[in-house]
Amino acid sequence: MIVRGWLNCNQVVLRAPGENLLIDSGYCTHREQTLELVARALHEEPLERLVNTHCHSDHMGGNAAVASVFGARVTIPEGEVKHVVPWTPQSVWMERFDQRADPFNFDDTLAPGDRFGGGGLTWEVHGAPGHDMDALQFFEPENRILISGDALWEDGMGFVWPEEGANPWIGAAREALDTIERLDPAVVIPGHGAPFTGVAAALAKVRGRLDAFEADPVKGARHVARVLFVFALLDRGSMRVEDVPAYVARFACYREISERFLGLDSNALAEWLLADLARAGAIDVSAGVARPTMPA
Ligand SMILES: [Zn+2]
Repeated sequence: MIVRGWLNCNQVVLRAPGENLLIDSGYCTHREQTLELVARALHEEPLERLVNTHCHSDHMGGNAAVASVFGARVTIPEGEVKHVVPWTPQSVWMERFDQRADPFNFDDTLAPGDRFGGGGLTWEVHGAPGHDMDALQFFEPENRILISGDALWEDGMGFVWPEEGANPWIGAAREALDTIERLDPAVVIPGHGAPFTGVAAALAKVRGRLDAFEADPVKGARHVARVLFVFALLDRGSMRVEDVPAYVARFACYREISERFLGLDSNALAEWLLADLARAGAIDVSAGVARPTMPA
């Protein structure tokens, strides 16, 4: 288990002769570090296969590097094929969020109901929609280990897009959480943060948050804006405070969130983001420069 931060997802390395398997490849700008960490975890053994929980930039950004260096077969969720072939819409979509990923080729796909071998264990494939409608999670029933991706972390989950009224993303996220409850894992290996065992508490916390976001979409929209901006800071390392209004004006995701839910112009949005994140301890602002406080 390679626990990364909040720019790169975790890497799970499952080892057994002929069945060395990596779950998720991190963000593209940290590809060299990811390759080193994975090589160390493999103890110089080959990597047979790379499997993605979902095709967001922090989970598949290193796919191309991992495939070319280790020669691993690449497996993605079946539902993600439409998002990566052809690649052009993917790059358009990423531009909206100021995110990047190296284009990659995949060899095969997995869908809910499938099974695969990794690390000498048999993993069941289950749907994990919500944060990403086509995401998967992987469950090993004998030891009751769940690799949850961004469907459940110890203290939250990947953000769900805000919506007025009935929110299909929140509905789907609740389904994924119900699946986890039914599987009753003894341990969850999440896409971000350390593995954890207090699954009931994690489920209760995230369900409460989804209820709050559904009741108040503005709250959900603020959460998404915060997460996206911290991600951008983790990628860049820092941003000058005076550059933040132009930054949030440039990328469509902030404009969309602000126009639909927050009603702030780019100056007001920048001011709110910086003050709010600094108050929460997620960023440090000093000498006119904003920096994230969490590891990338
Ligand atoms: Zn993620």
